[in-house]
Amino acid sequence: MKKISIVIPAYNEEGNVAMIHRKIQDVFSGLRNYDFEIIFVNDGSRDNTQEQLEELSRQYPAEVKFIEFSRNFGHQPAVKAGMDHAHGNAVISMDGDLQHPPELIPEMIRKWEEGYDVVYTIRTYPKQISYFKRKTSDFFYKILSGLSDVDLTKGGGSDFRLLDANAVEVMRNFNEDDLFLRGLTSWMGFKQTGIEFTANERLSGQSSYNLKKMITFAFTGITAFSVKPLYIAAYLGFLFSGISVIGYVLYVIYSFVARTEISGWASLIMTIVFFGGLQLIILGIIGIYLGKIFKQVKDRPNYIIKNKKF
Ligand code: UDP
Ligand code: MG
Repeated sequence: MKKISIVIPAYNEEGNVAMIHRKIQDVFSGLRNYDFEIIFVNDGSRDNTQEQLEELSRQYPAEVKFIEFSRNFGHQPAVKAGMDHAHGNAVISMDGDLQHPPELIPEMIRKWEEGYDVVYTIRTYPKQISYFKRKTSDFFYKILSGLSDVDLTKGGGSDFRLLDANAVEVMRNFNEDDLFLRGLTSWMGFKQTGIEFTANERLSGQSSYNLKKMITFAFTGITAFSVKPLYIAAYLGFLFSGISVIGYVLYVIYSFVARTEISGWASLIMTIVFFGGLQLIILGIIGIYLGKIFKQVKDRPNYIIKNKKF
């Protein structure tokens, strides 16, 4: 029997954990040759998620395991913790709110058996979402991917994927402070394939991702994988220096030919403001990288475990 470990980060998912366990049980009752374990990672929930998990693991000790964090560390560290503790021949990570349909698991396993080490999922849009929204979202991911060294359009927006034990071992040995598992998965290579799915609505509770988090996530996607923004800063420097030299020459010629000064208080101020802004942006970009080095150098753990049951 091959074993599949399913890693589920859970932050305030008291209304969902029992249901997702049942759904996964259903899926595996149709898969004869596979055993499964669910590793719930309670990421510092403030509701009764922990009690729910303890109860579940009492009822199904072979199937349900849990890790409890000492506080909220975030979705990515939670997934990492689950992977660090998984013993399966393959590990599937999925959200705890049933937005990632467990019905997709058999197909993921099939692809894995075909020889793929990584089966990622591509989230397609539900029909209600307008054309405009799809296009802007696609465009956003295209820009991000262009700024980064990894293709972030693959599996855009979802951490629902299967990794072979080999790939999980690689993941375990990463020592990055700023975890961006989607990018790391794409970056590490191996034989990869994607399957499409439409995300469901959240079963119960609230999404904890808001716009601020999305933007932070986007920044991480870029700055954890590439130094392109630093190059852009340098290129802009060259560009504007070049323009200013040309402008200077033209200005000298003009004042000789026309025998007059060019006046322009407004354009002067605008230029100063523009370049002041640009310099701050570039300083900020350098600062982001510096901050990352600072955090990485301290080498703190990605998460702290308070309690676990295996
Ligand atoms: N999650 C977590 N820690 C957090 C926030 C979220 O472990 O700080 C979990 C959450 O329980 C869920 C998954 O990460 O299983 C995705 O979160 P959510 O549904 O809030 O995000 P969305 O689906 O809106 O992207
Ligand atoms: Mg969700």
